[in-house]
Amino acid sequence: MQKTFVGCAAVNFRRGRPSSFQPEAIVIHIGEGSLRSIDMQFNDPNASVSAHYCVSKAGDIHQYVDEKDTAFHAGTIDQPAWKGLKPGIAPGSFINPNFYTIGIEHEGFADDKWPDDQLATSAALVGEIAQRWKIPLDEDHVIRHHQIRFLKSCPGNVITIADILARIPPAAPVVPPGVTSVKTINNLRLRGGAPSVTAPVVRTIPAQTIVEVSTVFLGDTVNGNNKWYSDGTGNFLWAGGTDQP
Ligand SMILES: [Zn+2]
Repeated sequence: MQKTFVGCAAVNFRRGRPSSFQPEAIVIHIGEGSLRSIDMQFNDPNASVSAHYCVSKAGDIHQYVDEKDTAFHAGTIDQPAWKGLKPGIAPGSFINPNFYTIGIEHEGFADDKWPDDQLATSAALVGEIAQRWKIPLDEDHVIRHHQIRFLKSCPGNVITIADILARIPPAAPVVPPGVTSVKTINNLRLRGGAPSVTAPVVRTIPAQTIVEVSTVFLGDTVNGNNKWYSDGTGNFLWAGGTDQP
């Protein structure tokens, strides 16, 4: 995806992540301002805030912090509702969620309806990040900032996480398949819309059937194999169930 790297003030993020931490969840925010105001805020050395990305209403992506670095977007915990929070050493304490999350801001205000370009870009960005860090695409791992800090409305009063998850496109093709047809080993379910075991079953293909395929995608891992063939019409076949795993 096309992104513009804007960067942020050096004191508004931390280089790297503390040892053993890597992104495990994506926190969705609403910026309460324009893209330009968010650019300025993150570059203000007195602001002490940042996020990895902001998605504009027009669907442009600004990046401020590398995903390997720690952005300051969800470090204040108040009346948390997210069960993914990691407990700290002291009783009742938590490890700073910034250490193991990626933050995405959005241009606009809590009561704004998101333009379709903004929702589509945000969903695609979430899907891309999730694929890169192997983050599950569900409401335990793509969360509202509100679930960490109660007084924040993020991502606002209009959009839901379900709206975002529903718009995530199928994973991008990785390599040409090198084959144009495969043979099913067992009865194999053809899934519609996504290379995923939770995608709807279009039909079951009997064992020993030759199926024409066009592209390989990375999708859900089944028995250690995350390769899925596309039939070219939006349906997906898990490669592990074929003679070309
Ligand atoms: Zn927020």
